[in-house]
Amino acid sequence: MTDVIQQAPSTNPLKVNLLGLTEAKLVAFFELLGEKRFRAAQVLKWIHQLGADNFDEMTNISKALREKLKEHCEIRAPEVLRQLDSTDGTRKFLIEVTGGSVVETVFIPDGERGTLCVSSQVGCSLDCSFCMTGKQGFNRDLTAAEIIGQVWIAAKSFGQLEAGGPRKVTNVVMMGMGEPLMNFDNVVDSMNLMMHDNAYGISKRRVTLSTSGVVPQLDRLGQYTDACLAISLHAPNDALRNELVPINKKYPIAMLLESAQRYIEGLPDTHRKITIEYTLIDHVNDRPEHARELAELLRDVPVKINLIPFNPFNLSNYKRVSNNAMRRFQDILMQEGYITTVRTTRGDDIDAACGQLAGEVNDITKRSQRYKAQFSEVEPVTIVN
Ligand code: SAH
Ligand code: SF4
Repeated sequence: MTDVIQQAPSTNPLKVNLLGLTEAKLVAFFELLGEKRFRAAQVLKWIHQLGADNFDEMTNISKALREKLKEHCEIRAPEVLRQLDSTDGTRKFLIEVTGGSVVETVFIPDGERGTLCVSSQVGCSLDCSFCMTGKQGFNRDLTAAEIIGQVWIAAKSFGQLEAGGPRKVTNVVMMGMGEPLMNFDNVVDSMNLMMHDNAYGISKRRVTLSTSGVVPQLDRLGQYTDACLAISLHAPNDALRNELVPINKKYPIAMLLESAQRYIEGLPDTHRKITIEYTLIDHVNDRPEHARELAELLRDVPVKINLIPFNPFNLSNYKRVSNNAMRRFQDILMQEGYITTVRTTRGDDIDAACGQLAGEVNDITKRSQRYKAQFSEVEPVTIVN
C-alpha cells in the first residue's frame, strides 16, 4: 500500500497527487483509506474526463469523503509557463515541472486528427548526435502526474474536458523530450491513463511510444501495454547508427529490430506495423545507397517508414536534408514496397527545432555552453525555422 503513495509524487510531500494514479492504483489507495473500490472510477472520471482539480466539484462523492480527500490528496498538474499558438493551429506549451525545469508539449492538428507530442523526461541521457534534448544532458524523469498532466493541460486548453467539449486530442505520441523507456513505470502508467475508458479513452492504435532502442525495457513493454511502437532508427547499418544513436553500441540494430518485432507480434490484434523513424541529415544518412540498404534491412519486418527532415539547431553542425535528396530517398523506399511518409514541419512561427525552446529555458548541465564554445570557431549555423 505504501507503494501507492510513493509512486504518486506530489509538490506537497504530505499529500498524494491523484493526477498520476492509474485506476488500479486509485483502487488500492481507496482501500487504504477504508473506502469502496468504485470510488476510483468516479474520481478518475472527475479528473480526466471533467478536468476537476479540486474535490468540491465531485458532487457524487459524499461530503465526508471529500473532506478526507482534501486532507490527504491533491490534484496538481505542472504549471504552464507559456502557451504559443501558431497560425496553422499548432499549439505549444512550455511546462514548468517541480524544481523549475521546463519541458515541451506540442499539439498538432491535421483535419479531424489532433496529435499531442508528450515529453517523458527533462533532458535525455542517450545523447543522440542530432538531438537538441540530448545536448542538454539528463536532468530527471517526469512523474506520471507530470506526463499525463501534459494531456490534461492540452485537453483542458481546448475545452475538451467540459461537458460536450470537442474531442481535440485524438492521438498521443511519446516523442517529446526524453527517452520514454528510460522512465518505464511512469510512462506505462501514463499511457494506461491515456487509453483507459474512465480517463481519456484514446484507442491503443492512436497512442505511440517512440524509442531509440533501450532493448531490455522494450522486451518488457508487452507485459504492460499494447500501444503502438515507433523505433528511431536513423541509419541502415551499425557503423553509422553508432555515430548517430550511441545506445546502438550497446543494443545494435539486429537486436533492436528483433525485440520490436517480438513486441508487435505479441499484440492481440494482427496487422500492426512498427513505425520506423528516420531523421534525414544532409550528406550523413540521406544517400540513395542508404535508402537501398534500409529497404534490404527491413525486408522481413512489418514496418511503415516515417522520414523526418533534420531540424537544425545552433549547437549542431548537421544540415537539413535537401528536398531532392529527401524525395529520392522516399521514392526508393516506395519502389521497394514500403509505406513511406514524410513528416512536414508545423508551427514554424512559434518555434524552431523540436525541443529547442525548452532547451533554451533550461540550463541543466552547462553542457550546451560547452557545445557552443566548441562550435564558436566554426562557421555559424543558422536556425532555419
Ligand atoms: N527518445 C525518443 C523519443 C523522443 S525523440 C526517441 O528517440 O525516439 C522523438 C523523435 O524526434 C525521434 O525520432 C528523434 O530522432 C527525432 N529528433 C530529435 N531531434 C531531431 C532533430 N533535430 N530533427 C529532427 N528530428 C529529431
Ligand atoms: Fe534522447 Fe530521443 Fe533525443 Fe536520442 S533522440 S537524445 S533518445 S530524446
